[in-house]
Amino acid sequence: MEESERLVGWIKGAKPGPMFLCVGGLHGNEAAGVRAMEDVVEQLQPRTSRMRGDFVALRGNVRALRQGRRFLKYDLNRAWAPAGATESLPAPGAATDEDAEVHELLAILEEVRRRARGHLYLLDLHTTSGGGGAFTTVGDSLDNRAFASAIPVPLVLGLEELVEGTLVGRMSEEGWTTAVFECGQHYEPEASGRAEAAIWILIREAGLLQAADVPEADRGRETLAGEYKTLPRFLEMRYRHPVIRGDEYRTRPGLLNFQAVIEGEVLGEDRAGAIKAPQTGRILMPLYQEQGEDGFFLVRDFSRIWLTISKALRRLGVARIVHWLPGVSRDPSLPGALVANRRVARWFALELFHLLGYRRHLEDQHRLVVVQRRRRFG
Ligand SMILES: [Zn+2]
Repeated sequence: MEESERLVGWIKGAKPGPMFLCVGGLHGNEAAGVRAMEDVVEQLQPRTSRMRGDFVALRGNVRALRQGRRFLKYDLNRAWAPAGATESLPAPGAATDEDAEVHELLAILEEVRRRARGHLYLLDLHTTSGGGGAFTTVGDSLDNRAFASAIPVPLVLGLEELVEGTLVGRMSEEGWTTAVFECGQHYEPEASGRAEAAIWILIREAGLLQAADVPEADRGRETLAGEYKTLPRFLEMRYRHPVIRGDEYRTRPGLLNFQAVIEGEVLGEDRAGAIKAPQTGRILMPLYQEQGEDGFFLVRDFSRIWLTISKALRRLGVARIVHWLPGVSRDPSLPGALVANRRVARWFALELFHLLGYRRHLEDQHRLVVVQRRRRFG
């Protein structure tokens, strides 16, 4: 396939193996990932004889990248759910802006799927408007978690529950192993170096090259581990502050990713007044740009012991009998979904479902509906 404004490169290994797709610039003001992919493609080319599978690098929102804007008409990383929603797009010839981007990406994703010679992996590269630590996020299945964990930076669990329609969410649903890497602040010179390190690490992790053929992976691991050794390795998402157009939200200046905040602390303001932290934790992705629907997120350290317990519970297949619990039943209208009666099941509800690999689908006063993060546990 020819390189183009969309395709940074398609490196085909001599031997069959995994398909590793890397996307950068899904937000057009986030070019660090694109630069990293360009470098990796160039350096990977001479190693194809020793390489298994394929490495494909794509620019996400080409039209927005041209203008250095997050998006033109709508956020391209909120356009992918629920599956089927993309079918309501205008026809390819008539589509403009992000509609056209979605069409073009769907076509190339289909091509990638068709030509894959092994398991499918997706790494989606982003940067944040605020400074501070880099981090990974995943749709929480065991294989996604293992894949992202290879990058030694904090891993944030549960973000996809608060952000609908991401590309990785959609591809996870389709059975791909996925990870998101937020590699730093948009204009920070180190961001593309971190992204490059992460790509090499995952090329090694996915098994495209043997360790000896990708020394960049070990070097990258060392650099990133050194840079983030004072931060917790796993965190869970606790809260999202939504920004509604016209509410004139502004984040207090100077807040950094993972900075500790206490309940009641003023984090920003809008037309209605001060915005305070609803709970103690660490702030993540404070918004310092015009475009964006998330004012900030709050995360909390998630101890390794819970990760081990959740893994054990899933391996034991406890998820298959969870509907035996009082107040929990299968949802007849939604395959794989469970309904919890909140009055009966309130003491365990969401926390237990999280451990078992379910995510919140919808919630009201009386019931909580959860669905499996993946149709099949990896
Ligand atoms: Zn982004």
